Amino acid sequence: MLLELRDVTVAYGRIEALHGISLGIEQGEIVALIGANGAGKTTTMKAISGLLPLQRGSIWFQGQDISKLRADLRVVRGLCQAPEGRGIFPGMTVTENLDMGAYTRRDKAGIADDQKRVFGLFPRLEERRKQVAGTLSGGEQQMLAIGRALMARPKVLLLDEPSMGLAPMLIQQIFNIITEIAQQGTTILVVEQNAQQALSRATRAYVMETGQIVKEGSGRDLLNDPSVKEAYLGVA
Ligand code: ATP
Repeated sequence: MLLELRDVTVAYGRIEALHGISLGIEQGEIVALIGANGAGKTTTMKAISGLLPLQRGSIWFQGQDISKLRADLRVVRGLCQAPEGRGIFPGMTVTENLDMGAYTRRDKAGIADDQKRVFGLFPRLEERRKQVAGTLSGGEQQMLAIGRALMARPKVLLLDEPSMGLAPMLIQQIFNIITEIAQQGTTILVVEQNAQQALSRATRAYVMETGQIVKEGSGRDLLNDPSVKEAYLGVA
């Protein structure tokens, strides 16, 4: 396993939000985490990024226990999150935002190559490279958030609700790009409310309910699972 959570428990004060979850991601996979509001998806992402401490359990990355590793050092190792709600720098241009994504790196040629790669994935960002990020549309800001995360050259890209607030056509586009990023060799863990899209793109997925993982399977199997259909896909 490239990334593994073993029996991870996280609490906010006295309130336990994750009750011992275990999951694993292999190199090259797109793994989706689906579940209702408040199920614990974002908390899981934050635990992986190192933004929340573990109460119990451990997180393993490339065979090493990173449970106590600082968040910024996890980025250096190759675990990189594009946060929910975009989290870009609104006063900076597109290019400056992308440069911020590469702040841990010193290899100028590699950084330039990766900027080309990002502009290849998101031609709209190239057209708008001198535009201040705060004036981009919601979809463009989401693209920029993903692009900025890619500039750290992650081994695992963590995406929290990439479709949030986007029109259906743009959701389709973002997921096309996510699929392309995975095909280029970046492993992806994606948290999504849009279960239909996430499951149809994922190699595997986990279903979360109230701080626990209640189901695991291939994206296709879960798409056809009657209880998943009823609860998350809006069909009985
Ligand atoms: P959503 O899709 O609504 O973002 P989620 O599955 O990502 O939901 P989390 O945000 O991980 O869910 O929340 C899991 C639980 O932890 C919820 O019950 C939530 O109220 C609680 N929680 C989240 N953040 C905090 C916080 N900062 N302080 C206290 N409780 C929190």
